[in-house]
Amino acid sequence: MHIDLPKDVKIIIGTLENAGFEAYAVGGCVRDFILGRVPKDWDITTSAKPLEVKSLFRRTVDTGLKHGTITVLLGKEAYEVTTYRIDGTYEDSRHPSSVTFTPNLSEDLRRRDFTINAMAYNDREGLVDDFSGMEDIRLGIIRAVGNPEERFHEDALRILRAFRFAAQLGFRIEEETEKAARDLRETLGNISAERIRDEFTKLLLSPHPETLRSLYQCGISAVILPEFDRCMETDQKNPHHAYSVGEHTIRAIQNIREIDVAGESPENREAYGTIPSESEEDRKRFRYLRLAMLFHDMGKPACLTTDDEGIDHFYRHPDLSERMARTILKERLKEDNKTVDVVCSLVRYHDLKPKLDPGNIRKQISKIGKELFPLLFQVQRADILAQSDYQREEKLQYQDRFEEIYRQILEEGDCVSMQELAINGNDLIRDLNLKGGKEVGRILNELLDMVLGDPSLNERGFLLSKAQEMCGSADRKEEGS
Ligand code: ATP
Ligand code: MG
Repeated sequence: MHIDLPKDVKIIIGTLENAGFEAYAVGGCVRDFILGRVPKDWDITTSAKPLEVKSLFRRTVDTGLKHGTITVLLGKEAYEVTTYRIDGTYEDSRHPSSVTFTPNLSEDLRRRDFTINAMAYNDREGLVDDFSGMEDIRLGIIRAVGNPEERFHEDALRILRAFRFAAQLGFRIEEETEKAARDLRETLGNISAERIRDEFTKLLLSPHPETLRSLYQCGISAVILPEFDRCMETDQKNPHHAYSVGEHTIRAIQNIREIDVAGESPENREAYGTIPSESEEDRKRFRYLRLAMLFHDMGKPACLTTDDEGIDHFYRHPDLSERMARTILKERLKEDNKTVDVVCSLVRYHDLKPKLDPGNIRKQISKIGKELFPLLFQVQRADILAQSDYQREEKLQYQDRFEEIYRQILEEGDCVSMQELAINGNDLIRDLNLKGGKEVGRILNELLDMVLGDPSLNERGFLLSKAQEMCGSADRKEEGS
């Protein structure tokens, strides 16, 4: 096995070796290279102690000095160089509470989570694969290094990591490893929200988000996202649906496919059959969409009613789904405000089906904001395609028309917001001698309503005279009362 190490990595390994130490590329980068993916970052493991590493390189950062990690900066790139170590138990988000350095590479590989993540490589020794990681890559298996129960006891996050890697790589979890994950699932309750979030999001954004089903079957979602279990347990006796809420949710998530963060380069596309996301912006949008699909129907179980014909209904579930999404995103997943806002709006409006006339759609656009619509359309299509076949053609035709009207409105440059109105509050205050505040707001809103109905009225002179009239009528009303 030959790995084509990047120049910087060769320099770092060479520098450490020339000083009499051992050094290897290790973990995720070795695994990814073997899989034909382009590694995100190259981590290096070495027999040198942190201070020895520091003394050998000009620019370094003490990333985790106590835990043995020094970041070496070469040009614009950063590389984590970590001393061979044996871990104590894990307490915080990134590091075990205590570590012991060791001169022995094999000891360092033994503390790693899965066999596919426990291989090291340098040009001198070739591949060091003490735990048959190569074989497990060939078989497509996630297998704990050593005794899985012990390994999950040391750090329960590894339970979730097993499913995350399975979802990213399309691998299955080896039997003993899965049994231990099942048996110890409750211990995931002791893991910090941030660590869970990072692994769970990677799973959700992976090429195999249907791994959520395995999380449910193994009782793991019951610990980290019990709301999802309720969805899996809620049938939908309704002609529009063919699956439980949870199964529908899984399919809706799978239908968001355009971009795939697992593939960040053309090489990855080949290895994974996924389309690499074009930009940071695309990756964010992909993330919003997958999260929105996860939450869009989460309110359904609590909204279930069954009518006299035995048909299930879920009236007003988008509102409840939105509230649940907000709480979970903020408090459990600790997402940033922008993510919470976008995802919650998508959840809230996912069932929006406006009457298809341009005036009405302009009103919806002004209410919701035009930026959201391209994402909302993707949510709605993913949703439709995860329902039963019943009326699917009609639903898709409606969707085409809705999107077409939206596009036309934007192409025409129609006014769809207060900002695009041909006059603003200052104009009113200046020309009509209004004091500002409430009255100005009322008039602007009325004018906007008018313009949304007929965009050709968005003309300065006309709007000012209209405002004058409105002002007068308000005065008269006040006088009369
Ligand atoms: P990714 O490509 O998502 O970064 P990765 O394999 O590099 O995947 P990291 O979380 O970056 O995963 O960890 C780097 C390496 O450190 C892993 O490959 C594994 O060898 C080891 N490792 C990370 N977290 C743990 C853990 N909780 N328990 C044991 N080993 C771990
Ligand atoms: Mg990594």
